[in-house]
Amino acid sequence: MLRSLLLWLLILSSVSTVHAQTRTSENPVTILISIDGFRPDYLERGITPHLNALAAEGARGVLKPSFPTKTFPNHYAIVTGLRPDRNGIVGNSMIDPERPGQMFSLGDAQQSRDPFWWSQVEPIWVTAEKSGIRTATAFWPGSEVAIQNSRPHDWLRFDQAISNAQRVDTVIDWLRRPEAIRPRLVTLYFDAVDTGGHRFGPESAEVNKAIAEVDAAVGHLAEEIAKLERPANLILVSDHGMAATDEAKTIQLDALIERQSYIAVETGPYAAIEPAAGTDRRVHSALLKPHPHMACHEREKFPVHLHYGQNPRVAAIICLADPGWVILSGPSPYPLSPGGAHGWSNDMPEMRALFIASGPAFTKGTNIGLIDNVEVYPLLRRLLGQPEAKNTDATGKPAEILLKK
Ligand code: AMP
Ligand code: ZN
Ligand code: ZN
Repeated sequence: MLRSLLLWLLILSSVSTVHAQTRTSENPVTILISIDGFRPDYLERGITPHLNALAAEGARGVLKPSFPTKTFPNHYAIVTGLRPDRNGIVGNSMIDPERPGQMFSLGDAQQSRDPFWWSQVEPIWVTAEKSGIRTATAFWPGSEVAIQNSRPHDWLRFDQAISNAQRVDTVIDWLRRPEAIRPRLVTLYFDAVDTGGHRFGPESAEVNKAIAEVDAAVGHLAEEIAKLERPANLILVSDHGMAATDEAKTIQLDALIERQSYIAVETGPYAAIEPAAGTDRRVHSALLKPHPHMACHEREKFPVHLHYGQNPRVAAIICLADPGWVILSGPSPYPLSPGGAHGWSNDMPEMRALFIASGPAFTKGTNIGLIDNVEVYPLLRRLLGQPEAKNTDATGKPAEILLKK
């Protein structure tokens, strides 16, 4: 009796060893996670044990966002390796000479889901699907759009009301699937930290609460992945940081030009201004002169280091506010004191973004320092076994350092 029990135990343990070996030899899944508006120094607040553990087990760095430091342009830069000027998503709101009278805006479902705006380039999930790699997205700007007639195999309509935990559970369900229908590239997106930062500012108790909640959600995901015993490479990023705003630091366009003479495509830390028909000269002369706390440029003459202004979707005049200042056309749509924003120059330290990479592919303990966010793209390509992309805005050097030889 005892002998047969021992024999059984032996058989069982050898079966589970074989099982574990098969699992670790599987193609690892790549999970790209974005925590919108997460500033890298939030990791030093003592409220992110799970994110810090992932950084300690893997590699870390700081992302320099692309200009403009807004959500859609930067999320698209990360998945295309192209800065907004070349990826076609030049703002959260934008116009296009080919679509007169229309405006793309993040909150306008009809426009933001129209492939026209996204199809200048090919995001990584489209490339992956084309080469037979299954993808699934629990949100990412552009992932709900049929770009070049292709969407992720599994995707969800963006809905802020879906809780952090529900988003993570969706991803876990995908990872639990049998291999034939399991995704090898997954995206996951959290908006709560950005929302808390906008409403209450980056130093608020409310933003800290959101940071801790997202940290717990990521921790739960990491735990479940460990239980599944399936190799996974996690890349955690943010799109931009957050800086405090102040009611006393506003620049009012109404004081410079009458509102009928222009279309304010964007206002806030930067303003994108398109003169209305027949008002070019007036608008140019009112804006293109020195102003306190703001510098306006014609798009063709925009500072070269910001890599912006060549795409015909960039408005005729771009005004940049000084750090902490915001440009308004009428009353502010958001509270400014307390409050927070992003959109300023990508040189501003508070606009910097998160980067953590954790999993079997990465050299443990690497600190890559400050890297352009377009450098995440070559990393994704290599993790998915795709050939090096030509003609992106990335150098590929950070990927070289981060990945094990
Ligand atoms: P921002 O105005 O740059 O702060 O944008 C952040 C906001 O973008 C978030 O609070 C979300 O509500 C919204 N957002 C993020 N992803 C999507 C998406 N895929 N579709 C529509 N809206 C989104
Ligand atoms: Zn954002
Ligand atoms: Zn935001």
